[in-house]
Amino acid sequence: MANTLDQSVSKRRTFAIISHPDAGKTTITEQLLLYGGIVREAGTVKGKKSGNFAKSDWMEIEQKRGISVTSSVMQFDYQGKRINILDTPGHEDFSEDTYRTLMAVDSAVMVIDAAKGIEAQTKKLFKICKMRGIPIFTFMNKMDRDSRDPMELISQLEDVLGIEGYPMNWPIGSGRVLRGLYDRYNKRVALYRPDENSEKYLPLDDDGNLTVASDLPDDEVYQDAKSNMDLIQEAGNQFDLDKIKSGDQTPVFFGSALANFGVETFLNAYLDFAPEPGEHENTLDDTEVEPDNQEFSGFIFKIQANMNPRHRDRIAFVRVCSGEFDRGMDVVLQRTDKKLRLSNVTEFVANTRENVEKAVAGDIIGLYDTGNFQIGDTIFNGKQAVKFPPLPQFTPELFMRVSAKNVMKQKSFHKGIHQLVQEGAVQLYTTYSTGDYILGAVGQLQFEVFQFRMQNEYNSEVVMEPLGHKTARWIRPDQLDEKMSSSRNILVRDIHDQPLFLFENAFAERWFHDKYPDVELMTKL
Ligand code: GDP
Repeated sequence: MANTLDQSVSKRRTFAIISHPDAGKTTITEQLLLYGGIVREAGTVKGKKSGNFAKSDWMEIEQKRGISVTSSVMQFDYQGKRINILDTPGHEDFSEDTYRTLMAVDSAVMVIDAAKGIEAQTKKLFKICKMRGIPIFTFMNKMDRDSRDPMELISQLEDVLGIEGYPMNWPIGSGRVLRGLYDRYNKRVALYRPDENSEKYLPLDDDGNLTVASDLPDDEVYQDAKSNMDLIQEAGNQFDLDKIKSGDQTPVFFGSALANFGVETFLNAYLDFAPEPGEHENTLDDTEVEPDNQEFSGFIFKIQANMNPRHRDRIAFVRVCSGEFDRGMDVVLQRTDKKLRLSNVTEFVANTRENVEKAVAGDIIGLYDTGNFQIGDTIFNGKQAVKFPPLPQFTPELFMRVSAKNVMKQKSFHKGIHQLVQEGAVQLYTTYSTGDYILGAVGQLQFEVFQFRMQNEYNSEVVMEPLGHKTARWIRPDQLDEKMSSSRNILVRDIHDQPLFLFENAFAERWFHDKYPDVELMTKL
């Protein structure tokens, strides 16, 4: 039994794709799904093999805006592996959900538009991956268009993100002169033939020279790529699996998601190095919960409400960390120490339930929730109590003052706001001076979702007054003096009663720091 569980776990590869909007995340996801066919999917992408993928219709707001508000899960089998892709919202108004999803993966794929290089949102998401120390694989996309100098793209990884890049292959030209990929990892040249479906490979010998007759060696574009690859071989970063595992080096692949060029090469190499589910810390006794431990455990990284507007249900997404999930099993909710039978309330989040198989470490399950769960909760079913580390809090950057439009409806306003905050939809702060409510978010969209849900689920119309960008800095309660509050900052408390200042800008923060040098100003992630 231990063996079969171990075997199932070792097949799992669970990752998220991080990128800036328009870099090609959706396009590459579709290509990956086509390679695997889809076992089970939930949410964003509907599993039509034709490649026509429709957005989820779970939430009206998603339909209205034509975007996917919340992350979802796609699962497929490929070459003996079971792959879980956790989607992250593709819109630039991303939210804390996106960040939290990165807590539930074992590796990340970073898609970069090779014409644009590293963009703002990629940087933010990268930071979270880096903080977790998970492996990051890079796909330089859109090589069918004129790209930046590949050398520059590689050095940008180091300069901007602080991660070593190790090119697994090198583009032979780009845009109209894209000839193919010089692939040192697979010792072959992949020819770019956009009008044909299959990739054509020419083998390379150990010295990196073509072993078959070809015009390529006379081609300047090829010579250029080869000499760059030779140079990197000589003077570039050494391939270092330990560094890859700790997120200090990223294997880099070039290609075009749209032309499906280099994607299969990427996927195969990714599977050679991507980690299987690892252990998770049990904070109750400082031990590690091994993924092949027989006892089931998992944590909730996301709660999505209103999948079905008529039922007001919520789905709690659980990352399985150990054991095997069975419907109808009893689990203990660690936070309350209450036993829950999951039979009536539990379903996999899936459109195609007949395909659902057992879920083991690395998999994501969706539990129908009637309000039992909170983000960050641990559930387990063994004798050994388990509590996974709390999910990190993220420093919000955008703020809104919020109040109920109708003062007679304070009750539903408060109920709604507290439930949505508990769910992690937005963060809530209260001003010291007047007790006003201020909402904080990492993306604008969180406010819109909040407003929409307050109206639709709690029948509470809210008034929102934008406070714009602010710099949130926590301070130690013992250092607090309410006189520190001035016109350039707002003093508030968070839901844990911790004091923080919302500064107008970096200048206001510096001014404060100069005035109160002993007061430590702290950020969350
Ligand atoms: P996302 O916002 O990151 O999910 O990006 P999408 O996958 O929706 O792609 C954004 C746009 O870039 C779409 O118009 C795609 O067709 C286009 N695109 C994606 N990959 C490529 C590529 O490899 N080459 C070219 N030329 N366009 C691409």
